[in-house]
Amino acid sequence: MAMTKSIPSTPSSVPKPHRHALSMVVSSWSKAGIRTKILLPLTLLMILSLIGSTVGFIISTNTTRNSILDRQLEEEARRFSASLALREKTVKESAQLIAGSPEVVDTLSKRYETNESDLDNLLTMDDRVVRAQERFRLDQILVFDATGQTRTNIAPSHLEPLSFTIQDALPCQTQSQIALIETELNQTDVHLLIGCAPVIGSMERTGTDELIGIVYTVQALNGILNDIKRDLELASTVSLHDQPEKLVTSASSENGQRLHQEPITIGETPLVATLLLNEQDINEIVGSGFRFMLISSGLTLLLLMAVAAWLAQGLTRPIVHLSAVAQAVAHGDLSRRANLNDEDEIGKLGGAFDQATTTITTLLDQQARTAGELQAILQSMTDGVLAVDLEQRIVMVNPAAAALLGQDQARLVGQHVSAIIIDDESVSAIGLQQIVKHIQTKLGNSQDEQAPEERISLGFRIVRLQSASTLGSGDRQTGAVMVLQDITEAVEADRSKSEFIAIASHELRTPLSGIKGFVDILQMSSNANFTADQQMFMDTIKRQTDNLVQLVNDLLETARLEQGIRTERRWVSLNGAIDEALHQVEHLATNRQIQINQFIEPDLPPVWIDPMHLQRILINIFSNGCKYVYHGGHVSIRAYELYDIRYLPSSPNGQPWSYKDERSVVIEVEDNGVGIRVEDQPNIFTRFFRSENPLSVEVGGTGLGLALTRELVHANKGQIGFRSEELKGSCFWVRLPAPTTDPVGTGSSTRATVV
Ligand code: ADP
Repeated sequence: MAMTKSIPSTPSSVPKPHRHALSMVVSSWSKAGIRTKILLPLTLLMILSLIGSTVGFIISTNTTRNSILDRQLEEEARRFSASLALREKTVKESAQLIAGSPEVVDTLSKRYETNESDLDNLLTMDDRVVRAQERFRLDQILVFDATGQTRTNIAPSHLEPLSFTIQDALPCQTQSQIALIETELNQTDVHLLIGCAPVIGSMERTGTDELIGIVYTVQALNGILNDIKRDLELASTVSLHDQPEKLVTSASSENGQRLHQEPITIGETPLVATLLLNEQDINEIVGSGFRFMLISSGLTLLLLMAVAAWLAQGLTRPIVHLSAVAQAVAHGDLSRRANLNDEDEIGKLGGAFDQATTTITTLLDQQARTAGELQAILQSMTDGVLAVDLEQRIVMVNPAAAALLGQDQARLVGQHVSAIIIDDESVSAIGLQQIVKHIQTKLGNSQDEQAPEERISLGFRIVRLQSASTLGSGDRQTGAVMVLQDITEAVEADRSKSEFIAIASHELRTPLSGIKGFVDILQMSSNANFTADQQMFMDTIKRQTDNLVQLVNDLLETARLEQGIRTERRWVSLNGAIDEALHQVEHLATNRQIQINQFIEPDLPPVWIDPMHLQRILINIFSNGCKYVYHGGHVSIRAYELYDIRYLPSSPNGQPWSYKDERSVVIEVEDNGVGIRVEDQPNIFTRFFRSENPLSVEVGGTGLGLALTRELVHANKGQIGFRSEELKGSCFWVRLPAPTTDPVGTGSSTRATVV
């Protein structure tokens, strides 16, 4: 025998083909239209309910059918027995009725003669008997006279011969009776239900009541049974038998027939009535009921499906329409609208969709207009604009940028940004490389909104670069945009201006020095000969000349700085420099009766600075302290070493210390003078800016001092700042590098050459 070895499968894992089939069903279901999605489940549900009701029908029919049938069969048997008893009563009472009728008594009281009056009597009795036969639906009525002679025999011909058999079976001399007799008629056994009643009357000759005849009413049992059976509903066969030994009183099934036996008594005869129900017939009835149910359910199913299809179509029509419109809009046809008029949810959805489409159309129009305007602005701008994406591809370049880069605008778009460098040997190659580097740096650093501007040379042109990140949704960087500003003319104009200032200042300085010298000589030599007014004029001339000299010097210094500050840094002792600067401003403090308080640490480390610059810085902030304080005011000068690396403690706007060595020295000049108005504070280091205060006219000035000072501090890698409160005073501070190692690179912090 061939053996097959079955491999046990893992119960939890679904076999692959099943999974595949399942996924196919899921995917086809997801692709199915909404009508299918409504109708298919509905149809399945209806079919399931049809199957369910059919199965239920079969089960319930099978379980209840037999008990119902048995009960009904018992009921039928009782009805049969009652009908038979009624019939028995009718047969008996009809005999009594006829026996008591005057026509019968009258006729029988006369002796039978064949004269005319007897014939009349006889006919009258026959008439009465026939009427009784019709009324009680009897098969035969027999009337015998006292002599046993048949006076009337109303019967169908086949029963006529039975008259004496009946008389013999039931003498009925004294009282009415009822009996069932069995006799043979035409070689067939017949059962007859016979009722009889004696006729009592007085014969003409005697005049006393006596038995003058007997009336027999007869009905064939077959006829009775047929009549009763017509009234029954179920039983297919009803028969009467002699009582068996054992009765089948409760219904039972036998040879495909359900049977019930009911004991009855006719006259004195005990009998049994057997009712038989052919189950085949019942099955046919049930079967036809089942067929009827199936057909009606099928028709109902079809009707329901038609109604469901009609409803589904009505419900889904707006959805299908909306879906078609949505697809058209999604493919770019923004003119389409759903225009659903219903007030239900789908109608509202359609309305919202139309509104959204209108909004999108408006926004797109606006966007197109804005984009057009932006494009026009970019095309007509004199500044160049270059935009790149995160892959460093040029996404936009305007004509001005293309012209500055010396390239064809159309060629650049879509190229890598490095494509702007065509020729490495060209004069503008370095500048172009700087542009590429600048924008690459910006792409790698999206944090600072605007990168520091940078100046580059493109051939003979000077271009200022400034770039910013472009941000997409969620502030994600999408690229960078760079503005290239041609500042060649501006730089040239600035240079010419500086040149002019330098030349003019230089030319002014010589005559001014002469005037100043002669004024000094005049004041010294002929002091005694001047009148008071003359002396006052001389003082004014000297002061104004000093101011002019200061202005010219400042202008010259500024012009020099613009050409580039040259620093000659070395180790400088700060204590010594502070003393010297204080000495320079001493006469100013004395004239204005200013008290200078010094808080200077004795062993300040040497600073690494240009000594000339240090002097200018210190004199400027010391003299400003003395200038912008009322007569008799105070100025405090502090100098200390600072290791707090990042921020200056007294600075309101903390500025990070960018110098590579952490050690520094801070000089603070604090006064209790006029202070600086808040709105003027941002401009305090701007050239020629002078804040308005009660002392600005009295003390004079050019507004160049702090601007120069800041340039010098920065040139020497230091920091400068201030804090001030109007009418309360100001504090200017300077922080200078005091490196712990030799900045020149010898590695030693030599102080041998401190000046
Ligand atoms: P100026 O020659 O006018 O002094 P500066 O550049 O030195 O020019 O100063 C610019 C302006 O700053 C001054 O005109 C003055 O208004 C203001 N300023 C400078 N130092 C002080 C100070 N210590 N107190 C108040 N205001 C000051």
